[in-house]
Amino acid sequence: MRSIALLGSTGSIGKSTLKVLEELPDFRVQSLAANGEWKTMREQVVRWKPARVVMADPAAAKELAAVVPAGVEVRSGADAIRDLASDPEADTVVAAITGAAGLPASVAAVSAGKRLCLANKEAMVMAGPLLTAGAEETGATILPIDSEHSAVFQAMRAGNMDEIRRVILTASGGPFREWTKEQIDAATPEQALKHPTWQMGAKITIDSATMMNKALEIIEARWLFSLDVEKIAVVIHPQSIVHSMVEFHDASTIAQLGYPDMCVPIRYALTFPRRAPTAFGFLDLVKAQRLDFFPTDPARFPALTHGFEAARRGGTSGAALNGANEAAVALFLEKKIRFPQIAALSGRALAEHPFNPTPALGDLFAIDAWARAFVARESSK
Ligand code: MG
Repeated sequence: MRSIALLGSTGSIGKSTLKVLEELPDFRVQSLAANGEWKTMREQVVRWKPARVVMADPAAAKELAAVVPAGVEVRSGADAIRDLASDPEADTVVAAITGAAGLPASVAAVSAGKRLCLANKEAMVMAGPLLTAGAEETGATILPIDSEHSAVFQAMRAGNMDEIRRVILTASGGPFREWTKEQIDAATPEQALKHPTWQMGAKITIDSATMMNKALEIIEARWLFSLDVEKIAVVIHPQSIVHSMVEFHDASTIAQLGYPDMCVPIRYALTFPRRAPTAFGFLDLVKAQRLDFFPTDPARFPALTHGFEAARRGGTSGAALNGANEAAVALFLEKKIRFPQIAALSGRALAEHPFNPTPALGDLFAIDAWARAFVARESSK
């Protein structure tokens, strides 16, 4: 019996994880954590009977504590979430808290030697070298839940690391793939939140529209697989069926295909190296009919250039870019900045931040705070 700490259970990835668990009888849920949605959490507690529950928001924790069955421990706050990640009663941590806020729990899971199923790409973007070095030390296993990285991870099993010529990440291109630069410059939050192929949370949907999501995924791939940046390429693939590819030296390209459904990478991260059977989601290529591929356009989507730059420089670059982007996305959703300012402010934070090539965890949080303050200051000018 395997046991899971699911952090971010009321979000999109969290709900998909519980859906996957319905088909995996060898797993039990040890703990659940979420931000403030205590009503959804109450339903999850009744269904999954975890021993421990955390709501980040103290008010939500109070509401929840009054309605859960006796014997369920309810706590609140970031420290309590970190405790779930290092709980000896859980062997697997699903890190599905969005943004920099998810980093402490991911670090805790690695320190405790867990299987870390990582949907929180921002953790790898900010602190990739610390997480991978930590995992080597403790024996923790980091498995990607990001669909592109799951695809790369699966395709990599077809050869050896030193036989890889390139890793090719696919990108849907987002809702503005065919828009002109002028149209993109005037895009509203409502337009940016309409993703053509994936149903996801608000932050990552905006990141797809700016293509900052792909920028973060370039950095994520660089650390997760310790790849030279020169070996990472991006191609636009509007159907989101080919989730990414690995090109080997012998001119073989291995791809992983499937419908855009996060249950597939979640299931693989949980059951690796095994593949668990499912009743749902088998790909019908005849129905899909077409798989199109186009080059990227950094002139309309400058975030991509920032992603390559941050991956190349390493150190505090990922934290600067990510912190600035999170702050800028929040401001855009509040209609306080225009769409192109998200990438512009993030790129400036990357270029102007006090760079440190070998940061410790505290330095990364300091740069994250610096980048957020930078965006707040520059956006109000
Ligand atoms: Mg992805």
